[in-house]
Amino acid sequence: MDCIFCKIINGDIPALKVYEDDLVLAFLDINPDTNGHTLIIPKKHFTDLDDIDLNTLTAINEVSKKLKKLLEEKLGCDGISLLQNNGLVQEVKHYHLHLKPCYKDKNSIETIKHHELISDPKEIYKKLK
Ligand code: AMP
Ligand code: ZN
Repeated sequence: MDCIFCKIINGDIPALKVYEDDLVLAFLDINPDTNGHTLIIPKKHFTDLDDIDLNTLTAINEVSKKLKKLLEEKLGCDGISLLQNNGLVQEVKHYHLHLKPCYKDKNSIETIKHHELISDPKEIYKKLK
């Protein structure tokens, strides 16, 4: 299947992985909206919220709780938004949950997408290790 996230799972293309277990993989977004922007995906290909089963959805939610703590502890963010797109607004058709940290002084809601404030994900990855 020609799915970029399945290719990451299979190791065909690289990703900055921050969490992995039998069901779930999490990695840094390649084009982050804020520092620490993370995607959590199921290892099995599900398209969207209609497609995914509740067991896998629960596993993803459990990982979101772990990664929220990690991002707060390691990056010192002041808040985190969870977002999951479907249909027209979903670019990659493999279910994924976005975790988007925000910061008081930068990357706040007002300054989101101010790309001069966004670090190279490789630098963020070093902090999360
Ligand atoms: P969505 O609009 O919810 O489908 O968002 C897809 C997200 O996947 C975007 O934030 C992209 O920057 C991200 N993305 C696409 N390709 C990759 C990749 N190879 N590695 C990491 N993130 C990616
Ligand atoms: Zn896939």
